[in-house]
Amino acid sequence: MSTFQELGLNEDLLNAINDLGFVTPSEVQQKAIPVLLEEERDLVALAQTGTGKTAAFGFPMLQKINIKSRTTQGLILSPTRELCLQITNELKLYGKYCKGLNVVAIYGGASVTEQANQIKKGAQIVVATPGRMKDMISRKLVDISKIEYSVLDEADEMLNMGFYEDITDILAHTPMEKSTWLFSATMPKEVASIAKKFMYDPLEITVGNRNESTNQVSHEYYVVNGRDRYLALKRLADANPDIFSVVFCRTKRDTQRVAEKLVEDGYNAGALHGDLSQNQRDLVMKAFRNNQIQMLVATDVAARGIDVDDITHVINYQLPDEIETYTHRSGRTGRAGKTGVSMVIVAKSEVRKIKSIERIIKKQFQKKDIPSGMEICEVQLMSLANKVHNTEVNHEIDPYLDSINDLFEDTNKEELIKKFFSVEFTRFFNYYKDSKDLTVSESGESHSRERSSDDVRYFINVGRKDGYDWMSLKDFLKAILELGRDDVFKVDVKDSFSFFNTEKALQEKVLSFFTDFKYNGRFVNVEITENRGRSGGGKRDRKRGRRNRDEQPRGERRSRRSKDSGRRGASGSKKNRRSASDRPRRSRRK
Ligand code: AMP
Repeated sequence: MSTFQELGLNEDLLNAINDLGFVTPSEVQQKAIPVLLEEERDLVALAQTGTGKTAAFGFPMLQKINIKSRTTQGLILSPTRELCLQITNELKLYGKYCKGLNVVAIYGGASVTEQANQIKKGAQIVVATPGRMKDMISRKLVDISKIEYSVLDEADEMLNMGFYEDITDILAHTPMEKSTWLFSATMPKEVASIAKKFMYDPLEITVGNRNESTNQVSHEYYVVNGRDRYLALKRLADANPDIFSVVFCRTKRDTQRVAEKLVEDGYNAGALHGDLSQNQRDLVMKAFRNNQIQMLVATDVAARGIDVDDITHVINYQLPDEIETYTHRSGRTGRAGKTGVSMVIVAKSEVRKIKSIERIIKKQFQKKDIPSGMEICEVQLMSLANKVHNTEVNHEIDPYLDSINDLFEDTNKEELIKKFFSVEFTRFFNYYKDSKDLTVSESGESHSRERSSDDVRYFINVGRKDGYDWMSLKDFLKAILELGRDDVFKVDVKDSFSFFNTEKALQEKVLSFFTDFKYNGRFVNVEITENRGRSGGGKRDRKRGRRNRDEQPRGERRSRRSKDSGRRGASGSKKNRRSASDRPRRSRRK
């Protein structure tokens, strides 16, 4: 594996790379940078967002332009204002030691005069959205007649958005003698045609397979009745307590409606779509970046260029009209080396679309059931238990401890634990105790969720944080337990723990293996769980399923208080932003 030095980058760039903490060049960087530094040639790179492609074209461009000259030598076209600003910021960071470098962003929705003034000062690199660029060229506010390097970033997105003519117009104002570097996640006909028309013998590099969705993402689909879509969305959110997600809807109206309902139901949600003013969109994006919004409900167009690296889930509330768009949606998660999950909620009439998407992304979806109410209660309970276990004591509470201890003087540890966890459990239990099964079979039958009496479901204290997704955890379990291909199933990976099933016949083998099992210096704990939603049981049972349901924690009914998720209260609307942190969370869920 090469280092950045070996790629041929100069000292100024290497120093910046060092400051940024990049250690190893990503695949697209390894493939593109040496060629672009050494040769003056065109390039077509098939790479998703999140693969480090900005640096793949940014480093060579920064190294090759003449920074002493004030002439505009590099032009980067990108589909959205967000992406345009993101690329500009990245280039400024990469070029922080290139004295005299001026990178200017040109995009709609901001003052043309201001942007023209910045260009006048002498910008060696201009990063632009096609519409505003064309406008400024026609008003002679920017001169790109001496461009040496042009980049078409997210070319498929630009063409999807109808920028074909703008792009061809803009390129017509650039000299023939230049290098063009085209980056695209997918290679539909239109992109191939641009490459053919405007590029000479381009070198083609591919990161992963064409159209392939990133390997870090696992894909799941859930079949529900159309009318249960929203309930299903809430369950998916509740079953993943640390979710940080983009929820995709097809229309602006649905986007707004779903976001509003989520906020009403106490979730930290916000809407992002084209009917919002730029200022509103900026506020929502800021809240999302700061993790104040856990569920960003967005249209495809508005979500383009979202550059947030730690999105855990993409939820396709509705599938896109163009199934190719799915690749872009799912590419919002699993970025910068992290794993992610892309979930699709479908009605049974849409299941065939899943097969078409599988062909495009060359990956298989896992068909999953919408979690039952009791599964959610269990996940929430275990998530809280893990949080409490990992919490560092805040000594600011010391002065109050005497009074608290007095209060619990007659309560033993076991009872205290039961009471403490009942607080959270009861809130979810009361909501979900009579909830119906939302999953329907692909033939449209409502699902019987009774687990086969021959199955055993286990809890394991490793999860996404340990680098697992359902596939890798399944592989791991099969390998260490020396089990066959289908012996481990219904693997459901959460942030810090997971669930899986085996046949009952394997129960003893699994449990005895994990009695004292350490992995990477840490005890791996596996216990039987009895999700009532699946099996009619009650809870995870430390004594392996021998306790009865009456021992189940049941707190008294009380008002729901704000659950501290660390990501509270940004809804995008002033009213909700103000009230979110002190409103009982999810107080009106139904
Ligand atoms: P991009 O695909 O250009 O949107 O990059 C995705 C993210 O990865 C950005 O936040 C970059 O700063 C970061 N990044 C790019 N190259 C590397 C690298 N070699 N090592 C670590 N992070 C990187």
